[in-house]
Amino acid sequence: MATIYHDTDADLSALSGQTVAVVGYGNQGRAQALNLRDSGVDVVVGNIRDYALEAAQADGFAVRPIAEACEAASCVMLLIPDEVMPEVYEKHVAPQLSAGDLVSFASGYNVAFGQIEPAADLDVVLVAPRMIGIGVRDAFVAGRGFPAFVGVHQDATGRARERMLAVAKAIGSTRAGCIEMSMHDEASLDLFTEQAFGPAFGRVMMTAVQLLVEAGYPPEAVLLELYLSGELAYSMEKMRELGMTRQMDLHSHTSQYGTATRGARFLDLEGPLRERMGRVLEEIRSGGFAEEWSRNREHAQRIFERVREARDRMPIARWEEAARRAFRIGDARED
Ligand code: NDP
Repeated sequence: MATIYHDTDADLSALSGQTVAVVGYGNQGRAQALNLRDSGVDVVVGNIRDYALEAAQADGFAVRPIAEACEAASCVMLLIPDEVMPEVYEKHVAPQLSAGDLVSFASGYNVAFGQIEPAADLDVVLVAPRMIGIGVRDAFVAGRGFPAFVGVHQDATGRARERMLAVAKAIGSTRAGCIEMSMHDEASLDLFTEQAFGPAFGRVMMTAVQLLVEAGYPPEAVLLELYLSGELAYSMEKMRELGMTRQMDLHSHTSQYGTATRGARFLDLEGPLRERMGRVLEEIRSGGFAEEWSRNREHAQRIFERVREARDRMPIARWEEAARRAFRIGDARED
């Protein structure tokens, strides 16, 4: 049974008298820094002289170069992109850390796959929100929580767990609940969702779109039916609240009958899906993916550009645009 922590398991006093350096003021950095400050934690922001610096200053934070912020703090929260983190850690963070300092990661990726090896005299923890940055802030302000994955990777002081829980409480995540796991498990689950679940789900959607448009249905109607109307998002929300199968009770009897009698026709997709998902998972767990991504990083921009070009040429991009304008979805408006 997994260990799950709530507010009553955490005590903010584990951070009292300590300055927390929030390194990076982007999606997570801004949200977590604001939440920490509102929880009474002494925060200094560490940022390079770039875009986010002014945003942090405008929010009233003391902003220093990353090395200086880490030197001034005994807890460091690394909230910069994972791909730049190893170099920033080696050059600007590690040299400023003293024995007993706490280093907190919002993703287990770099530690799990050996890209960062913190010194043995540090407390090293994971506090990884299952929520985008803006959601971390919005939930906190609204008095709600958001789930997080947490874990102690290294306990040099004997107080790593209580400090980790204090961080989780101060950013607001113990209000909902924090599940304990290793950095490797957190990173693997995250990568699996991105590399197996997401693409497989996307392929189901694209297959349905193509089949229905080829069968003569107007593309805008197909996209609305499948996801643009918001009904799918609403059903997903109900899955979260009621359960994947119990939310079926909210659908019409015709819908329930059709799903019950036709659902079995897709059961034989499970074999090939499991086989491919299993291969993706194995590549992630063995460190093969992390090794490949490190090797290919310099080509990343070229790969992303090619993906974007191909994506923009797909007919679905035009259909989505037309439907979004016609139905006033998001920022799109019909002229
Ligand atoms: P962002 O991309 O939003 O980070 C931007 C910040 O990093 C800015 O302060 C930026 O400075 C700084 N930065 C960018 N490049 C460099 C560099 N080369 N050197 C120093 N600083 C740099 O990151 P996220 O908030 O998305 O992710 C932070 C961590 O949180 C990651 O570990 C991620 O895996 C994890 N996480 C993210 C989630 C999300 O929803 N985004 C969800 C859960 C976890 P400037 O703008 O001034 O250049």
